[in-house]
Amino acid sequence: MSAAMYPLDPAPWVWGFMWFNGLVWPHLAYQWARRARKPYHAEHRNLLIDAFLGGFWIAAMHFNPLPSATTISMMAMHNVAIGGLRFLLAGTAAQVLGLCVGLQIFAPALIPATSPVQLYACLPLLCLYPLSLGWICFRQAHTLGLQKRELLALSRTDSLTGLLNHGAWKDQMEVEFQRCKRQQKGGAIALIDIDHFKAINDTYGHVAGDIVLRQLSKMLKQNLRATDVAGRYGGDEFCVILPDLPLNRAAAVMDALRDRFATLGYEQSPALKVSLSIGMASFNPTHADATFWLNDADQALYEAKTTGRNRVICCGDGKPHHELLDSA
Ligand code: GH3
Ligand code: MG
Repeated sequence: MSAAMYPLDPAPWVWGFMWFNGLVWPHLAYQWARRARKPYHAEHRNLLIDAFLGGFWIAAMHFNPLPSATTISMMAMHNVAIGGLRFLLAGTAAQVLGLCVGLQIFAPALIPATSPVQLYACLPLLCLYPLSLGWICFRQAHTLGLQKRELLALSRTDSLTGLLNHGAWKDQMEVEFQRCKRQQKGGAIALIDIDHFKAINDTYGHVAGDIVLRQLSKMLKQNLRATDVAGRYGGDEFCVILPDLPLNRAAAVMDALRDRFATLGYEQSPALKVSLSIGMASFNPTHADATFWLNDADQALYEAKTTGRNRVICCGDGKPHHELLDSA
């Protein structure tokens, strides 16, 4: 801007104002925004002041083409990046206002050509400004991408146990159902319900109840294969997908878990007895969709509950898994 103004021999106050605008105002604006109650709004206000001053200097430079175009394009670039079309229009209006004020102060005149010195003086800004704005936009997009992934993970996770939540687990079951259909493979699902959990809450308190829920989820994480998918179905119900396992082997895995959980007790109150009822179902290729698979497991769980609890029942067997093993 100095290169554009120098040949016009401006008054001392214009030089002073120009240096103030270039060197002092950015820091002033920054501090003003930092101390504002709503820094975002303060930044918008500062940018509108910038746009106004930009228009003012264009008039002061007598519309020297390259510095004027540089000023207009830089301001348009950051205004549209920050506030979209609306803020671009607001910035343009402020710029026009600044231009009008400038025309009142400086005699209207037009410099039709930019000198080589003025051109070279504009080059650093023309290169560095778009680069830094592009970099800022990239960083913003990158951060937003990360936050989006974090939010997605959170929306699929049960906050108490860290397992998949109801919706996310059901999505996985649907995927597994389709995979079994496509590849004609077997797999099993298990619905797990803690027996008399309400009594645990009532006797020991909800905090103790939460600890029991977390213990079970920890056990699920530690004792299942990496390919198995455990989730919290809701309340005291958990759910597991065991891909590529025949039902009897999947039932053996879940029965071992039931056994381990029953003997675990509860560290702070050894008197606490916790047991699990588990209903299991294997993939059935005749089923039209995954909800039938879930219904099978639900029925088996119901049977486990009504036939004495603390057992694994497989859909169609009607007998606890350990009794099946005994009779084999
Ligand atoms: P059953 O053997 O028939 O399953 O009996 P139950 O008492 O386990 O079954 P019920 O469905 O009546 O009770 C489940 C209880 O789980 C009721 C509810 O207060 C409790 N519950 C649900 N979510 C939570 C939780 O996040 N934390 C705790 N501590 N309790 C929960
Ligand atoms: Mg229960």
